[in-house]
Amino acid sequence: MMPVVALVGRPNVGKSTLFNRFTRSRDALVANFPGLTRDRQYGQAAYGRYQFIVIDTGGITGDEQGIDAEMAQQSMQAIEEADIVMFLVDARDGVCAADQLLADHLRRLTKPVYLVANKTDGIDADSATAEFYSLALGPVYQIAAAHGRGVSALLDLTFEPILAEFPDAVVEQEAEVDDTDDLDYEALLAKERAQEAEAEEQAPDEYADKIKLAIVGKPNVGKSTLTNRILGEDRVIVYDMPGTTRDSIYIPMERDGQEYVLIDTAGVRRRKKVNETVEKFSVIKTLKAIEDAHVVLIVIDAREGLSDQDLSLLGFTLNAGRSIVLAVNKWDGLDTDVKDRIKSEIDRRLGFLDFARLHFISALHGTGVGHLFESVTEAFESATRKLSTALLTRIMEAAQDDHQPPLVKGRRVKLKYAHAGGHNPPIIVIHGNQVDDLPDSYKRYLMNYYRKALDMMGTPIRIEFREGG
Ligand code: GDP
Ligand code: GDP
Repeated sequence: MMPVVALVGRPNVGKSTLFNRFTRSRDALVANFPGLTRDRQYGQAAYGRYQFIVIDTGGITGDEQGIDAEMAQQSMQAIEEADIVMFLVDARDGVCAADQLLADHLRRLTKPVYLVANKTDGIDADSATAEFYSLALGPVYQIAAAHGRGVSALLDLTFEPILAEFPDAVVEQEAEVDDTDDLDYEALLAKERAQEAEAEEQAPDEYADKIKLAIVGKPNVGKSTLTNRILGEDRVIVYDMPGTTRDSIYIPMERDGQEYVLIDTAGVRRRKKVNETVEKFSVIKTLKAIEDAHVVLIVIDAREGLSDQDLSLLGFTLNAGRSIVLAVNKWDGLDTDVKDRIKSEIDRRLGFLDFARLHFISALHGTGVGHLFESVTEAFESATRKLSTALLTRIMEAAQDDHQPPLVKGRRVKLKYAHAGGHNPPIIVIHGNQVDDLPDSYKRYLMNYYRKALDMMGTPIRIEFREGG
């Protein structure tokens, strides 16, 4: 799982600048998750070797009257959701009253808080930041977010102590590629096969047994109703598993001989306990559930149609590489023209998701719920299937025969062989000459060719290209 970093501080200290620096290298399609609360912004961050979820808060005003209300509404929740808090101050302004107020609150937290002085470019940073030690939050880290200065060092410091807890925060470096010209294709293939066999022997049984299924969607789409419906069915055997207060509840269950772990973001199980307040919808909880799932069941409300929030949930799931099953809920009692309208809206706006199965269900009446699981297991199977080098190479060759890669600078791009680079999502690594110059259209062609040839439903597929052998 990825850690969550919250950026807090007065307005204008540079929080958005830092947020954008963290998130902009990510796929622009889904970089930002429009917050369900107005003034908070969520992003998937990738910076240097780190990846994490970042929350930008609108900033606290410093007006003592308003500060509690403002903080309570957004910064406070962001701070609560975070694993790490970065408290930004403006090195040029010195310590302000609002900084002091926020520091008073942050000092009481048990989670790591880093005091970060921004805008240290073009000034004597050491003397400008000295007074911030009076906030009694430990060292003052100097950065210039606008120029990226000090940012890598800050991340090294903040992530070092939590890497054991969040190993996913570090992106594995790709191995160096040996791009010699005269390739011994057969030898390479043999080597890949040997590695595959070895990997297979060592592979954990995770893929063979439990399917982690997250049920996500906006508030009120029917997640709790659906979860209760699933858990209430006779054929389901539910085991008890305690949850923590903050995160989703994991509910192990078995259905038709297949084991699942339901990741319940709606807090159904917890609500059963007496006197417990129902938790508010949490974006972070939802994002974490998606990251941690094999398959994500995205619930959409037929009565509301597709919303931006639905689309950003979908985008986030795709970006995370998770398998997707779509359920349009509350399909009961709708007029035919309403149904037709929703169907055509989905066709029009979700064309890019044509690999995901779509179900029209009524969680309230139980209609269509059983079939969901067929699509879930199918998606899981597609996402985790073993793909041999021989098979992937054969499909690549067939694709190349059907439709030659284009000429680049007078030379034809040559694809040499392909092998699997990972599961859930399946990653296909293609080696060849000049592959960096392949146009996107040809990459899409290959992707579709693979999808068809492998008959993969429900999972995104990633293709990576490597120059040479
Ligand atoms: P936020 O309100 O805390 O999100 O602050 P913004 O990110 O919007 O930044 C406020 C202003 O400070 C903008 O004009 C930025 O260009 C500027 N700024 C941000 N980072 C730096 C920096 O490292 N150096 C300097 N000189 N200006 C910066
Ligand atoms: P959650 O916030 O996503 O967990 O949504 P809930 O499960 O609490 O449902 C929100 C509201 O939608 C409740 O009033 C449910 O009774 C209603 N609801 C849920 N599923 C259906 C359905 O399939 N059909 C209809 N008509 N209403 C539903």
